[in-house]
Amino acid sequence: SLTQALPIDEIRYNEQGLVPAIAQDYLDGTVLMMAWMNRDSLQKTLETGEAWYWSRSRQELWHKGETSGHIQKVRSIRYDCDSDALLLTIEQIGDIACHTGERSCFHRVDGIKDAPPADTLSEVFKVICDRRDNPTEKSYTCQLLAGGDNKILKKIGEEASEVVMACKDDDKDAIASEVADLFYHALVALAYHQVDLRDVYRKLQERRR
Ligand code: AMP
Ligand code: ZN
Ligand code: ZN
Ligand code: ZN
Repeated sequence: SLTQALPIDEIRYNEQGLVPAIAQDYLDGTVLMMAWMNRDSLQKTLETGEAWYWSRSRQELWHKGETSGHIQKVRSIRYDCDSDALLLTIEQIGDIACHTGERSCFHRVDGIKDAPPADTLSEVFKVICDRRDNPTEKSYTCQLLAGGDNKILKKIGEEASEVVMACKDDDKDAIASEVADLFYHALVALAYHQVDLRDVYRKLQERRR
């Protein structure tokens, strides 16, 4: 599986025998961390299916999560065009990759704390959850949430039939707009019922194989 996927001797390690490895969440694509690997850690990773790095400060092989429990199950390993960087798609146990307790190591922008963006749906969902937790009167999202299931589910029904009509017309721009509306209202339903979008992604991943 993983072993077949990666020609370990084709990787171009630097003068220290290291190659940078970026770990990305398999569900929403969030960039979780960057660390170094050498040939041995890559070999260990391929054998065990869990991420092993090289700790430059401790000068030793580092099984990520061995003290924190925040192990990384590796779904895939890619290497870049000139074979000098790795991209790991991982399932992050405990949902925390950073030793600070943050989900991602990239949680700061110009010194201000801010989670890294994932995909567009996740970003919209984050805004919706923020509206839910900090309501304002003018916000359409807040009005929907205040209306509860009655209001939200009615809108989902309407948007679904608008998708149907747009598809019947084969109006490609309208299809994109109406599916966007449907997605947005589905996200509001998720937020209202306190269901995480990543649980939806998990279902989609389960159905993939
Ligand atoms: P862990 O591998 O998660 O059990 O953490 C063991 C040690 O590795 C921590 O005490 C940190 O020094 C270091 N460490 C863990 N996660 C990271 C990370 N994402 N980036 C850099 N160092 C880390
Ligand atoms: Zn490169
Ligand atoms: Zn970190
Ligand atoms: Zn619509």
